[in-house]
Amino acid sequence: MIEKVLIANRGEIALRIHRACREMGIKTVAVHSTADEDAMHVRLADESVCIGPPASADSYLNIPAIISAAEITGADAIHPGYGFLSESAKFAEIIEKHGIAFIGPTADHINLMGDKISAKEAVKKAGIPVVPGSPGAVREFKEAAKIAKKIGYPVIVKAASGGGGRGMKIVHNEEELEYAISSASREAAVSFGDDTVYLEKFLTTPRHIEIQVLADTHGNVVHLGERHCSLQRRHQKVLEESPSPALNSAGRDKIGEVCRKAVQSFGYRGAGTIEFLYEDGEFYFIEMNTRLQVEHPVTEMITGIDLVREQIRIADGLPLKFKQEDIKFSGHAIECRINAEDPFTFMPSPGQVKDYHTPGGLDVRVDSGLYSRYKIPPHYDSMIAKLIVHGKTRNECLMRLRRCLEEYVIDGIKTTIPLHQKLIHEDDFINGDYNIHWLEKYLDSLTAD
Ligand code: ADP
Repeated sequence: MIEKVLIANRGEIALRIHRACREMGIKTVAVHSTADEDAMHVRLADESVCIGPPASADSYLNIPAIISAAEITGADAIHPGYGFLSESAKFAEIIEKHGIAFIGPTADHINLMGDKISAKEAVKKAGIPVVPGSPGAVREFKEAAKIAKKIGYPVIVKAASGGGGRGMKIVHNEEELEYAISSASREAAVSFGDDTVYLEKFLTTPRHIEIQVLADTHGNVVHLGERHCSLQRRHQKVLEESPSPALNSAGRDKIGEVCRKAVQSFGYRGAGTIEFLYEDGEFYFIEMNTRLQVEHPVTEMITGIDLVREQIRIADGLPLKFKQEDIKFSGHAIECRINAEDPFTFMPSPGQVKDYHTPGGLDVRVDSGLYSRYKIPPHYDSMIAKLIVHGKTRNECLMRLRRCLEEYVIDGIKTTIPLHQKLIHEDDFINGDYNIHWLEKYLDSLTAD
């Protein structure tokens, strides 16, 4: 039985995990850098351990320090959250060697899906459609040029170990290809410690639709429907919703079932997300994330299933309590990611929060570690809050979201709330008629005005 969980993360997700543990009667251990001594999850956890200086490499990515904290406090499981060590196969392996449960998949599955080339091969074999592209890594220009010609320009050069929307280069013709390959692999080597790159057809009008799955250690797998994450800037999600305005329930059942079966065939364990680009009625796999996603609350809001609770139960060896036919999708949910940034230039704006007031009421959820007088440290990701709203219909959800965005006060710093306020009045957004390129074009049109 898991009785004490060490939370190897910070910010809103650390608090989110703490809350699930508290409701399950499980004790929590917060680990934190010296910059996070005043963080809300550190205040609320049963115990806390300082694991190093502000730089992530010396604290949140410091495996020996985290394991020592787990051993000193007698934690019997570690939840990695998202980002940081959540997709480190090495971390998962070392933890389990120390007899501590990793709340996530096995190191082998993290490895398999962490390399986008092996992931594509594996899912293709399991019957999932993939984006047309190079059969594996591309190393030299001549070979790449042949492949690119075959799949047709534009193509996109992607890093096999890439993440966070980085390490991608769009190529419109053969002249641009050579430089794109060498610069993408150089950047990949610096950012991800692996210079392997591959080619994919660059889809010009796709939507980003992803399927959430949950798999226990007894062979039971369910899918929890889709999330539509097409509002992106620099390949990073800004707002997510479920269900997708581009999909009907037959479409959802079909792709959900394909994913469910594939994940079952891998013998996968835990929560996972299979990400697709969706264009002209076809799904194309891009990657599988072997962890909890930032946008998981939209799924929770429409299914009533607590994903963190399920992750912990699975790590405890318990079977899922529901089958696919028990999962009901109800209403509509939208999540706005709120960053400490200028809403239009996106310049980071860390600093001290002054007045703070969160919206509330029926079907409203705010996941955030913020409080009045909290000092946002400059060392980490700029996302400081998630506002998630549910409604019986998409329209009701939009009305509620408008009201909540008006009510939310975060004084003292700049945030992206004004951007969300603007976005939700746009006709294309209201009509659900937007693809992955829509937001960047919209932002360009604002600066052109
Ligand atoms: P990361 O792991 O860095 O998030 P992904 O492979 O998940 O990278 O892609 C992130 C985003 O990049 C996608 O949601 C999409 O906007 C864009 N993208 C990735 N592959 C393609 C492609 N083949 N065509 C068009 N856009 C793409």
